[in-house]
Amino acid sequence: MKTIIVTGGTGFLGSNLCIRLINEGNKVICIDNNYTGRLENIKEIETNANFRFIKHDICEPLEITEHIDQIYNLACPASPPAYQGKHSIDTTKTCVFGAINMLELAKKHNATILQTSTSEIYGEPLVHPQVETYRGNVNPIGIRACYDEGKRCAESLFFDYHRHEGVDIKLVRIFNTYGPKMDPNDGRVISNFICQALSGQDITIYGDGHQTRSFCYVDDLIEVIIRMMNSSFGFIGPVNIGNPNEFTIKELAEMVVDKIGNGSKIIYKDLPSDDPTQRRPDITLVQTKLNWTPIVQLNEGLDKTIKYFKTQINLFKKG
Ligand code: UDP
Repeated sequence: MKTIIVTGGTGFLGSNLCIRLINEGNKVICIDNNYTGRLENIKEIETNANFRFIKHDICEPLEITEHIDQIYNLACPASPPAYQGKHSIDTTKTCVFGAINMLELAKKHNATILQTSTSEIYGEPLVHPQVETYRGNVNPIGIRACYDEGKRCAESLFFDYHRHEGVDIKLVRIFNTYGPKMDPNDGRVISNFICQALSGQDITIYGDGHQTRSFCYVDDLIEVIIRMMNSSFGFIGPVNIGNPNEFTIKELAEMVVDKIGNGSKIIYKDLPSDDPTQRRPDITLVQTKLNWTPIVQLNEGLDKTIKYFKTQINLFKKG
């Protein structure tokens, strides 16, 4: 049995990860300030003797007395509407101070620490699909910069703690992911489209809908994050993780309309600034090193996600 910290543990990915780690017999300490996370996400494990939730903001140092084996650092608002508003400064702080505090904790406990970085570090990519060696094209003063540059700085901190402090790090770059435990109000495209369709509202495409994304189902993503954490010593990444099947946002809207119907029309709204035109991971590295390929394709994943959002639709506030 390992003792594992998951920061951002009440969020979409964090809660899915906590549940999987508990089911595999580990002791899990879930850390979150619940800024975008939801306690409801951890309901099914909150009474498990091996699970503990600590409400804490990782911008502040964290003291844990028992020995920690592994730390998964997921804490950070991840949806563009969540990080572009009045909490943009908190987002940078969480990326930077949070990384320092968790790296210090890893150093103290001699724990392996995995950083969840993001495809956003590639910005508006000029290389397609994106390979790990591509250094990106980020607008450092744009509305996405708090997240993009925050996550870039966190990558740099992880590598410096590895080089100079000997911390055992792992670094993954997550591409768009979806599935159960997403917040119906977090404003991302899949949650918005499904909740709009389920509640009979119009489906809002930003821009002309020709921009692309590649969507990974959450179970596939959790599997590879765990594989990366437990990969052989010395393989630190960065490694892209995501599903390389690429769709336009218009294609996604049409799939959701076909599946749910409900009279929703597709309407077009302004494209937010710095919205990447295309995004698709090159996953050769992860396939080779971790023998991982995503299994759940969008058609099946959307069905599972629609089923989940039917249980949440009373919480959807947009309209
Ligand atoms: N998007 C959209 N309608 C929505 C929400 C998002 O057309 O209601 C677009 C958004 O402009 C972007 C893509 O869908 O081009 C993916 O957006 P999301 O916020 O899910 O994540 P991103 O990949 O931009 O971080």
